[in-house]
Amino acid sequence: MNLGRNFIIRATFIVLLLGCSANAVTHTVRAKETFYSIAKRHGVSVQSLMAKNGFSDPRKLYIGKRLTIPSKVTAKPSRKKATKKVATKATKYRRPSSSKFRVIVDPGHGGRDMGAYWYGVRESDLNMRVARRVEASLKSRGYPVTMTRRSDIFISLSRRSQIANRYRNAIFVSIHFNATKNTRVSGAETYYAGKKSRYLAKCIQSQLIKRLKVKNRGVRYGRYAVLRSTKCPAVLVECGFISNSAERRRCKSNHFQSQAARSIVSGIERYDRVY
Ligand SMILES: [Zn+2]
Repeated sequence: MNLGRNFIIRATFIVLLLGCSANAVTHTVRAKETFYSIAKRHGVSVQSLMAKNGFSDPRKLYIGKRLTIPSKVTAKPSRKKATKKVATKATKYRRPSSSKFRVIVDPGHGGRDMGAYWYGVRESDLNMRVARRVEASLKSRGYPVTMTRRSDIFISLSRRSQIANRYRNAIFVSIHFNATKNTRVSGAETYYAGKKSRYLAKCIQSQLIKRLKVKNRGVRYGRYAVLRSTKCPAVLVECGFISNSAERRRCKSNHFQSQAARSIVSGIERYDRVY
């Protein structure tokens, strides 16, 4: 996977020439541009462009940033040869390996198992709505994604783990909504069953609380089948209680669902920076 395809920022260019010196070329980043596309355009390497502008993480490039284009190779016995060499170097640049894990997105329940059901709200439907948003958002950020289900069908718990266990470098995120007989109970919680999973759970839970403004029920150890049988880091997210009437109203809204998805994605990104 090369850098160019992986970034959200790409496209058109503004080259500003400040003065006559070859060293004073700058470039203002426009929408959809990447270090890769800018480096290629100017015939310099991605590494030298990032180093010149003090970047260590290519994902931190932002629209409007004015980049200084590093000077090209000074000795030029053959100009064509020199340009060709740096271009090759640029195409060989890869994203840091830590960003390449696959995310297995698991919308809980489905088909004959609708999960919790309160006043016409089916948990399996809410899970799918959030999961689809998580999938789209992760893909736009360059993560490979596998969904355990894409429609309202029944998938066994062991099958869900089997899907995750096909991949060596992956994380598993199961998406659920909660319910209990005590209708006063509300809030979000995230379950894990291993050390790495615990950190992933913490990253996601803190984002959920920050964005959804729901009660923090914490990160919890839970020996759920999907967490136990999955080899990669795995968490189970409970976004809110549909048994609580006020929270149910919120859970049904597009706004809540998109904020829940955003929280899950930001949590994954935070985890990605560490592992
Ligand atoms: Zn559930």
